[in-house]
Amino acid sequence: MSKLIIATNNQGKVREIKAILGGFYDEILSLKDAGIVADVVEDGKTFHENAAKKAVEISRMVDGDVLADDSGLCVDALDGAPGIYSARFSGEGADDRKNNEKLLSLVKNESNRRARFVCALVLANGGREKLYVEDCAEGKIIDEPRGENGFGYDPLFYVKEYGQTFAQIPAETKNVISHRAKALEKLKKEVEKL
Ligand code: IMP
Repeated sequence: MSKLIIATNNQGKVREIKAILGGFYDEILSLKDAGIVADVVEDGKTFHENAAKKAVEISRMVDGDVLADDSGLCVDALDGAPGIYSARFSGEGADDRKNNEKLLSLVKNESNRRARFVCALVLANGGREKLYVEDCAEGKIIDEPRGENGFGYDPLFYVKEYGQTFAQIPAETKNVISHRAKALEKLKKEVEKL
């Protein structure tokens, strides 16, 4: 019986991953579902390194495949920041509101607002990386938050094709066009080849 452990306790991510990879595994479990307590330090220099570290370390503790993701927002005018530091951009006690405020203060005088969300996914087994894919979603940072959906930097991330931010676009649509959705589709194609 094939099993996939997802190196997250974020139920939103688990749902999204189950919907896309469900056909390939008999069982897909979050860390909590699998009874795994792991605190992997994300000290890599890239999204790939961080995702690989999580997947590889946890795959040493279990039988079966382990999938880990690492994602974040890269803003051109800020030389790619906040990047891998997206979750803790505003420092100690960082939360979405504080992170968004910090981002707005830094881009205030910038005319180039191009940005992208990036998602790296690593599949590991028995302490070794089996697959790695990465994809992104392009957009621009606007001057004030718009919309109530989503999380993180979604209210500031405007997508021209939709004339809306990620926080205004319905979840069903974001789950098709987002960096994570695109990376998962890539991963699915690679898993099919295995
Ligand atoms: P993680 O990969 O779940 O650790 O996410 C890292 C951080 O990147 C999050 O805490 C958010 O700040 C940001 N981020 C990643 N994906 C998204 C997204 O889809 N929307 C908004 N923010 C995101």
